[in-house]
Amino acid sequence: MQDCIFCKIVAGEIPSVKVYEDDLVFAFMDINPVQTGHALIIPKAHAENLWEISEADLAAVHSASRKIVTAMQRALGPVSVAAVQLNGKAVNQVVMHYHLHLIPRANTEAPFKLTAWEMIPGDMEVIHKTGADIAAAID
Ligand code: AMP
Ligand code: ZN
Repeated sequence: MQDCIFCKIVAGEIPSVKVYEDDLVFAFMDINPVQTGHALIIPKAHAENLWEISEADLAAVHSASRKIVTAMQRALGPVSVAAVQLNGKAVNQVVMHYHLHLIPRANTEAPFKLTAWEMIPGDMEVIHKTGADIAAAID
């Protein structure tokens, strides 16, 4: 897609530090790493988000992500890995081409704040209602 920075990376029009490529997916290092080793994996075909991406591309991205996290274990030593994926501006998606962040972190590193949300019990009435609304809307 014209003007999409990740489509330009796939096309080789913008440089990237590639870590993996196959027919359907491309993976490269994030240039603003949250942790050392932060990588991104994307479908080669442009799709904005989880609503748009094809089933085949979705499966390919997530299947290849396991190859990459396995390589992270080999290359970086024992690490935990956060696989993070954002859909829409309200959850801070910045690049509007589907991407899965793979963020490795050794147990010895500073606290990992990204996923350290506070566990505050919710209102069970609201949880039941919204759960039922979502379940009823599934095809
Ligand atoms: P988000 O859309 O919020 O999930 O994040 C987009 C990510 O893309 C950020 O972590 C950026 O650092 C990363 N990013 C943006 N441009 C580039 C680029 N040219 N090469 C590598 N990573 C990039
Ligand atoms: Zn794109």
